[in-house]
Order: sequence, then structure tokens, then C-alpha cells
Amino acid sequence: MTDYNAPIKDMRFAIRELAGLDEILQLGAFEGVDNDTVDQVVEEAATFAREVLAPLNVPGDRAACRVKDGAVEVADGFAEAYQQFVENGWQTLAASPDFDGMGLPYAVAIATFEMWQSANMSFSLCPMLTGGAVSAIDAHATEDIKKIYLPKLVTGEWSGTMVLTEPQAGSDLAAVTTRAVPEGDHYRITGNKIYITWGDHPMTENVIHLVLARLQGAPEGIRGISMFLVPKFLVNEDGSPGERNDVYPTSVEHKMGIHASPTCVLNFGDAGGAIGYLVGEENKGMASMFTMMNLARIEVGVQGLAVSERAYELARAYALDRVQGNAPGEKGRVTIIHHADVRRMLLMMKSQIEAMRGAAYSAGALLDVVRHSADSDEREVANTRMALLTPIIKGWLSEVAQEVTSLGVQIHGGMGFVEETGAAQHMRDARILPIYEGTTGIQALDFVGRKILHDEGRAMNSLLADMRATASATADVEKLADFAPLLGDAIENLETAVNWLISKAPDDPNTPGAASVNLLMLAGTVVGGWQMARAALVVCNDTNEYDKTFRDAKLNTARFYCEQILPRAAAYSRAAMAPTATVMNMPADHF
Ligand SMILES: Cc1cc2nc3c(=O)[nH]c(=O)nc-3n(C[C@H](O)[C@H](O)[C@H](O)COP(=O)(O)OP(=O)(O)OC[C@H]3O[C@@H](n4cnc5c(N)ncnc54)[C@H](O)[C@@H]3O)c2cc1C
Repeated sequence: MTDYNAPIKDMRFAIRELAGLDEILQLGAFEGVDNDTVDQVVEEAATFAREVLAPLNVPGDRAACRVKDGAVEVADGFAEAYQQFVENGWQTLAASPDFDGMGLPYAVAIATFEMWQSANMSFSLCPMLTGGAVSAIDAHATEDIKKIYLPKLVTGEWSGTMVLTEPQAGSDLAAVTTRAVPEGDHYRITGNKIYITWGDHPMTENVIHLVLARLQGAPEGIRGISMFLVPKFLVNEDGSPGERNDVYPTSVEHKMGIHASPTCVLNFGDAGGAIGYLVGEENKGMASMFTMMNLARIEVGVQGLAVSERAYELARAYALDRVQGNAPGEKGRVTIIHHADVRRMLLMMKSQIEAMRGAAYSAGALLDVVRHSADSDEREVANTRMALLTPIIKGWLSEVAQEVTSLGVQIHGGMGFVEETGAAQHMRDARILPIYEGTTGIQALDFVGRKILHDEGRAMNSLLADMRATASATADVEKLADFAPLLGDAIENLETAVNWLISKAPDDPNTPGAASVNLLMLAGTVVGGWQMARAALVVCNDTNEYDKTFRDAKLNTARFYCEQILPRAAAYSRAAMAPTATVMNMPADHF
């Protein structure tokens, strides 16, 4: 039940064929890294995930984090596992060698993130947030701050957090009221933050908070927010943790899932003000925080992929084992994998997982281009595509994870609903994904507003053109003749809805909001189909290196996606273009 065996073959396939490892390795930043290095890293990560992290997943779910004497206590075994994680250097995988990072491509690191999150989502949130803090500090902090904090964060010896939410400021961060008052070379921070993931814990000797707060006299709203680095322990001249800073956890939430991840209420400044240091410019805190948030959005999408994969593995094993009923052409009672409907459910899971993997890994590869290409035009193109894909990866993957983990429960029948099999935990853990790091509604608004309307559909048109090129390539391959019309129709559904949005939005301010989630899901569904068609093209190419079982399974899974998932595009497109008035005209008291 607690086993996790990473789908190494499909991960390697996605890294090489869909993320385009060979081209990434040409970027010039990855000297000494080759296919063998990557294979070795993937193998070793799979072993660590299976042997160290996965066995703690169920016990972590059953244990509760709690606050005792002003500090958070975590589930048994987590601190030891974390120690090993750091000692093995896993935190440093994609970090810059300037700070002793291994400097591997992000397109490779993303496969290891998938493994950590599949094996143990609660645990893996801690290193995930640290990675985000590193990217924000690296991009926006002064050299002095970088020198003090980055080396310890890059290795994972210290962990990082993301401190935005307050009781009155969730999706609406303009309502943040935490205060910052200048004092010499630092600031005093006072306020109350809620829902802070791994906001306190004993696994590292220091916890570095990146906090949104408001300076006195700052403009109202989002333009008056600044970002501060607030260490749990102030740092001595020699770099060691010193005096305790004035930030304390007062409680941890009791939640539906990810029980072993402490979700903290944090009080800043109960004893006069926590000492914090400005990161980036005053009042430009949202821009700095977006460096962390954009990365986290991709990685929350990867969490959706990861928990779906784990749910699939469990369901597949159960379907191969559980005997129930008879099936046409089979003698006697059969294992349930022989039933057409169970096969359909498994393929719904498998095909969407592989589509999500293709989408996430290829988005990850864009980050390598943005970070390392010597060509500024190429960087710009990759950045624009990445910005367009980010809400899709966050929103669509985290929503699909709900369907996939629920199918995992369904395949188990009654055994899925009782906790014993572990299927229910994956569904409970997955439920946070469309909520934190910006709800699906917020991702969808970003997608239609900033990513489509703001640039009048240019980035989207470029994506549509790339997808159309893949559809026509499938038309030239005999075995894929049926793919082209299915993918072509879905691309047209997306294009029609995008053009409709661009033409209607100026007439009615409620149109983007009413259409947004259907548009986001439409785009995700089509991007998934595009990735599956790209994968099918690879395995139909005679020179490919993959074994027959892998090739046949990939082709069939891609065909299933085109036949049974892509038709959803027509429904999403129609729903997106439905009259806004039906959504908006009913008075609030009629609900
Ligand atoms: C387990 C967990 C861990 C978390 N970790 C962190 C963390 O580490 N750091 C941190 O800062 N925060 C964290 N959060 C907070 C999380 O990011 C917020 O819960 C989330 O952004 C939603 O805010 P809210 O809960 O206030 O919901 P609300 O903003 O009140 O939203 C309620 C509903 O209204 C919708 N809605 C709100 N505004 C709009 C709008 N303008 N247009 C359309 N729909 C809208 C939302 O989509 C949602 O469906 C965490 C939360 C949880 C539960």
C-alpha cells in the first residue's frame, strides 16, 4: 500500500522527447551534464523517494503536527528524512553553482520534484518552498543579503517560507495590513499571518520567511506592498543563527489532507516587532513575490501530476488483484482489470497523467531557456510562452488531479472509501491543490486577463500555431491518421473561444470572469492533447529507441486521450461562450 515506484521510463521519455533535453544541454550552462548523468540522477531520486519518503506518507497522514512551547512539532521520522535529503544534496539540484548548487537543468529537477511529491506531498512542500525563496532572493535581494542567506537555503540547511495570507487578505492581497517600520538598516514587522506552510518546524536550524507587509504611508492596495526577509533566528556575524527573532507560531490548522505539513498561524511582533530586511524595492513587493509565486504555480501543477501518478499506481495494482465477476471471453471469475469500465477508468487516469507530465516538463524546459539562453530574443519568446502556460499548468493540472484521484478511489470500490488502502489519502491530499497558490478562479482570471486580453491574443496565437503544426504532422503518419481531425477540432474549439473572448470582453466587463474557468480548462485539455500527439509522433518514428511495450502503450494511451478526453474541448468551448447574463443576472438572494 505504501510502495511507490517512480514511472522512470515515462519520466525519461518526457524529459528527452517532450522537454527537449538535448537542446537544453546545448544552452551552454550545463557543461559536463549528459544523458547518462540525467539517467543516474533520475534513478537515484527514485530510490530515495521509494525508500525514504514514501514509507513516511501514511504515518504522516495519521500523525498530527502541533504547537508546543512556542514551536511546531512534526511527524516522527520527518526530521531524519529531511537530514538525509539535505546530505544527499537533493535541494541543490537545479541551483546555481555560484552557491554550490549542482546546476542541473530545471527540466530534470522537475522529474525529481514529481517523485518527491508522489512519495510524500506533505514532506515535499518544505523543500519546494525553500526553492521558491531561493529564486526570489536571488532575483531581488542585495548582494549582502544573498551572501548571508543563499548558501544555507540552497543546500536546504535552512528552509524558506512564503508569507502572504492574512485573515482578511486571501485571494485579495491588496488587503494585507501587516506593518513594516524602518529602524536603522532593517525594519520592524508587526502583524498576523495565517495558513503558512512549514511556517515553523524543528527540521532546520533556521527558517527564513519572505513576508508581504506595508510601510507607513504606502499607497493603498497592491502598489503599497513590500517584501521583507524575516529570519526565525537573527544571523550572527559568522553566519550562525543567533538571537530568536520576534515571530512565533501560535497554532497549526486541522485540515482535510497534507496532515504532516504544518499550516501555521504566525504572529510577527508580539514583543516589539520582528526584525526584517527589505527584498527588492519599497512598494514593489508583489513583483518580487511573483518570482516565487510563478515558480510555485508550476510546482503546484507538478504536485497535481504527482499525486495523480501515485493514485494511479495504487489503482492499477488493485485492479490487477481484486477478483470480481465475469468478463466476455474470460473463463471463470476475473480480476477487475478485465472489465471494460475499469479499463476505461485506468486509461482516464493514465492518459491524463501522461498529458500532464508532457505539459509540465515542457513548461519546465522553458525556464531553462529563460535562465540560460545567450540569445535575448529566444529568452523573450520562452518567457512569454512560460507566462501563458503558468496558469494552465497550475489550474488545469490541479483540477485534473481531483478527477484522477477520485477515479483512484472509484476503482477500489468500497475499499477506496475506507482509509486502509491509502486511495482516500491521495484524494484528500489533492484537494488543496486548486486552492493554495491562487485558486483556480484566480488562475483563470490571470489566464484570460493578463495572458490573453492584455496582449490581444498574440501569445495564444503562437501556441495555437505550434499545436496546429503538430496536428498536421500527425496527418502525415499513417498510424496516426485518426489523430489529426480529433486534435484539429479541439484546437479550433480553443481558437473560436479565444476569438470570442477578445471580441466580447470590451462590451461586458463580466464576460472574462464568467468564461474564464471554462477557457482555462479548454486550454489545458487541448495542450494535453498536443503533448500526447507529440509523444505519439516520437514512438511512431522508426528510429526511436523505446521498447515495443512502451511504444504500444504510449500510442494507445495517446489515442485514448484523443478519443475520450479531447471531445471535452467542444463542451468547454460552448460553455465558455454561453451568455454571461445567465451567470450574472440572478440576484444574490435568489441563490
Ligand atoms: C493548506 C494550506 C496551505 C497554505 N499555504 C500558504 C502559504 O504557505 N503561504 C500563504 O501566504 N498562504 C497559504 N495558504 C493560503 C492560500 O493561498 C489561500 O487560502 C488562497 O489563496 C485562497 O484565499 P482564501 O482562503 O482567503 O479564499 P478567498 O480568497 O476568500 O476565496 C474564496 C472563494 O472566492 C473565490 N474568489 C475570491 N476572489 C475572487 C475574484 N476576485 N474573482 C473570482 N473568484 C474569487 C476564490 O476562487 C474561492 O473560490 C494556504 C492555504 C491552505 C489551506
